Amino acid sequence: MKITGIDCHVLLVPEVRKDATSSAQDDIVVFVHTDEGITGVGETDVNPWIARACIEAPSTHTMGMGLKEMLLGENPLEQERLWEKLYTGSCMNGRRGALICAMGAIDMALWDIKGKAAGKPCWELTGKEARDSIHPYASLQPNGESYEEYKESLVSWVLHAKETGFTAAKLEVTLGGPYNHSGMDEPDEKVTEVVAACREAVGEDFVLMVDVQYAWNDVERALNTLRDWGDLDIYFIETPLQIDDLAGYARLHDESPVAIAAGEWQNTRFEFLDLMDIGKVDIAQPDVGRVGGLTEALRVCDLAAERGRKIIPHCWKTGISIAASAHLAAVTPHCPYFEFLPAELTDSLLRKELVKDEIQLIDGKLSIPRKPGLGIEVDMDALRSFEQD
Ligand SMILES: [Mg+2]
Repeated sequence: MKITGIDCHVLLVPEVRKDATSSAQDDIVVFVHTDEGITGVGETDVNPWIARACIEAPSTHTMGMGLKEMLLGENPLEQERLWEKLYTGSCMNGRRGALICAMGAIDMALWDIKGKAAGKPCWELTGKEARDSIHPYASLQPNGESYEEYKESLVSWVLHAKETGFTAAKLEVTLGGPYNHSGMDEPDEKVTEVVAACREAVGEDFVLMVDVQYAWNDVERALNTLRDWGDLDIYFIETPLQIDDLAGYARLHDESPVAIAAGEWQNTRFEFLDLMDIGKVDIAQPDVGRVGGLTEALRVCDLAAERGRKIIPHCWKTGISIAASAHLAAVTPHCPYFEFLPAELTDSLLRKELVKDEIQLIDGKLSIPRKPGLGIEVDMDALRSFEQD
């Protein structure tokens, strides 16, 4: 089989809010075509125009090759070899950042092709043992322009998630810091107040995680808040510190009563090695597209297992990435939960409309994908309705 073409589609929701901290508003969808009529699809979570340029830019020299140029004519079933070829050939443009994200979308599409060609779900082609079901958590992002509205919105979302059948949810509580919600700058005690209100609303038998989106600018400040959470039974705190402060993360691992999670921005297994070995994070959160695709995400899962760390993939995109995360979770026994942005619990039209068929939540769990490839179908009418130049 040979790769004959690669198409990139830049998508945006109709009313983009540039002040919102939500990457569910944009997307790049990549189709990889083959001479046998099989097409694979992938996506990635980064500015879609930048990712498209990484794929379509022509080569200029051996260290600055274009991804598309390197792939045309290649055998799509050799995704590990192709990963190394793309990484090596684009090193001067890439190594980290948007280029690795773009490679992730391509790698996802190659796995889709491999599964479709074999008539098997992607997880089955990993050679690893799978489980029957996987455990999602609802990823909740509140609305509201004031602190009170924000708190009420989050409490109602978490109750709604519980009613929908979830047994776990992550609260985005971004009352300050660089990615604050609607310009808020509330004292840290209010973060604890929101988390406590949600805990009181859902009761004891419900798993709660918290994401403050890099809100705290130093370890002492983070610890001051986290030390008050001993009784709130919080499963993890996500990205409490700015991501380059790996020494700060290591101290949190040593001193925080709450487990530390991070990794949504990390590209390649090399950044995860730093995060786990220097930053000592308890829970690594690879985003399948951003880390460099299923090939690289599987490597990160192996490295985490060797270190006794858990994996809980990041996923804030459409049904394409959700499917890829589900295949990863299916063969990762040290993945207790995975992020699931339920269509009914989000405002994102892209999330609601782009993909027709996906796994369903039953009794708080999702059965693993069974269809060939990623097991999803993109709604091309929906895709065209979101498409940008
Ligand atoms: Mg996050």
